[in-house]
Amino acid sequence: MGGVNGPNILHADLDAFYASVEQLLDPSLRGKAIAVGGGVVLAASYEAKAYGVQGGMSGRRARELCPHLQFVGGHFSQYQQLADRVMAVLGDFTPHVQRISIDEAFLDVAGSTHLFGPPGVIAQRIRQRVRDEIGLPISVGAAATKHLAKIASQVAKPDGLVVVDPAHELEFLQPLPVSLVWGIGPVTQQRLAERGIRTIGELAASPTDSLEQFLGRALGSKVGALAANRDHRKVQPNGRAGSVGAQSALGRRFPTDELLRSVLGHLADRVASRLRAKQRAGRTVTVRVRFVGMKAITRSRTSDAPLSTTLTLTETAESLVRQALVDHPDEHEITLLAISVSNLVDQPVLQMELPVLPDEATRPGSPTGAARWAIDHSMDEVRRRFGRAAVGYAAVALSPMASVPDEFRELAEHEL
Ligand SMILES: [Mg+2]
Repeated sequence: MGGVNGPNILHADLDAFYASVEQLLDPSLRGKAIAVGGGVVLAASYEAKAYGVQGGMSGRRARELCPHLQFVGGHFSQYQQLADRVMAVLGDFTPHVQRISIDEAFLDVAGSTHLFGPPGVIAQRIRQRVRDEIGLPISVGAAATKHLAKIASQVAKPDGLVVVDPAHELEFLQPLPVSLVWGIGPVTQQRLAERGIRTIGELAASPTDSLEQFLGRALGSKVGALAANRDHRKVQPNGRAGSVGAQSALGRRFPTDELLRSVLGHLADRVASRLRAKQRAGRTVTVRVRFVGMKAITRSRTSDAPLSTTLTLTETAESLVRQALVDHPDEHEITLLAISVSNLVDQPVLQMELPVLPDEATRPGSPTGAARWAIDHSMDEVRRRFGRAAVGYAAVALSPMASVPDEFRELAEHEL
């Protein structure tokens, strides 16, 4: 075992994480159908999942499926602390840990097998330590690629371990449902089913050009490669990137308020959600505006408080771009807008119980820092399950809470 082609990549994923923490903190909740959240279910215990309750589902729908479902308050700082302790356990086995959300991470243990044993043994030791020292169930998948390891941990749930033997990868992969492929949400799953594609094997057998045709080129080629078991991505330990940015080419456009708001809102959403996914926040916001004739200017602002919420980044970028336009009254049309955030620091995902938050409201009537965190977090969660297009900020009226869909408003208020 071990070696270059062994199942050296582990995917470790806490089971029903928020709900498991609530059951850990309050023993009277153990064995019960509970959900964390309010308007939207952020997590459901396995007892609730048995009724079909799922994260990302509206609270109303969840109650229909499971009338005795008990909603519990979110102990967000506890989630963060416990998840950090789990990550510290993972770090005891290898420095090659890539945390991809609050409660899941990839590990590359190729360099650790001489110390701790084969990958399957390391995975079992991780599960035992997390259970004994922290009290939470964690499932682990071990395989030669990230994609297989992640699928293996999902197959292992709840509270299990699956090691994919590199000699039998296709036999493992092909009978599984396409919903386990990274990037395939319920909508794509439905579109594939309409064409008779239900298993990963059937997906792998579909010609790439026809997949690209009906799923779009990027998604089609990506899921086609993964289904065919082609995945060369390496485990990338966190904390490397110096900045996160996004840009949008516009053709020739007059920079109306409406255009700035919708383009910058969209870019800020992309940048901020990527920062949050990396557990990062940044102190410096830079915008770039390109005018007709390729002349481009940049404007930056650095503040003491690192930011990672979509609304704060949108407002900061808008004010920088407006100032840039005021400074260049002779330029009438713009061709590109870009936002980047640098001076990055580590920032836990959830800080809702802290009295002072880094992203404070900068406009009257705008949500407070804590509400911004809650809104962003619930959107991240829904998107993680249903894809980016599932939910977003309204393009207009970014500042007031009224722009937020009702379900998220309710969730934000519930959790503050
Ligand atoms: Mg999890």
